[in-house]
Amino acid sequence: MRILIANDDGYLAPGLAALVKACEGLGQIDVIAPEQNASGTSNALTLGRPLSVYTAGNGFRYVNGTPSDCVHVALTGLLDYRPDLVLSGINNGANMGDDTLYSGTVAAATEGYLFGIPSIAFSQVEKGWGHLDAAAAAARALIEQVLAGGLGQAFLLNVNLPNRADVAALPRRITRLGRRHASAPVICQQSPRGETIYWIGPAGDAREAGEGTDFHACANDMVSITPLQVDLSDHASLPAWRQRLGQTP
Ligand code: MN
Repeated sequence: MRILIANDDGYLAPGLAALVKACEGLGQIDVIAPEQNASGTSNALTLGRPLSVYTAGNGFRYVNGTPSDCVHVALTGLLDYRPDLVLSGINNGANMGDDTLYSGTVAAATEGYLFGIPSIAFSQVEKGWGHLDAAAAAARALIEQVLAGGLGQAFLLNVNLPNRADVAALPRRITRLGRRHASAPVICQQSPRGETIYWIGPAGDAREAGEGTDFHACANDMVSITPLQVDLSDHASLPAWRQRLGQTP
């Protein structure tokens, strides 16, 4: 078993170290993570400049780029083998509902999935690393259970772990993504140089958070596991658009 581990909070993040430690004994582990916090960078790849890879004292490698850069570089040239599994996290904060489109944590796992490798993203629901060791133990237990079923065809799982000491014993729910309300407005300020500057506002509250969603599971102290796909096509609307815009045969 050979495992590639990345994240979006950067190579110094406690969540990364906890996940790596929890995976000890599963096989060979390589860590390749962003040099700096790259939360919210989605699936961005750095195309306008070259990337450098450095090795930290603990053996983790880090890249001056995005989470997707890390996994992309690892899979296309840095590693001299193809990992059996790509893991991402553990993220500092939830990645549920529409967050998954912006998440660098999910993106790192998605990059593995796009290369045909089974991939799992892990996030703690609350920021601040509360009960991180328990979250890492829960992640390990889940990984072992997934491995026991065989890896076979690639999959992409998005896992959100409540910040609780007993998280490994909590029920698990296979969920769909919920939806959020639109984000809060940007926050305008004056810079010291008198320019108007804008801070992206916080994400919106959960809008579709009913039974079966990731929001609902975590709000009810359960571990949420959402199988994701990459195809954004709105298959259901294809016939209506063909009619509306007059597709010719
Ligand atoms: Mn993050």
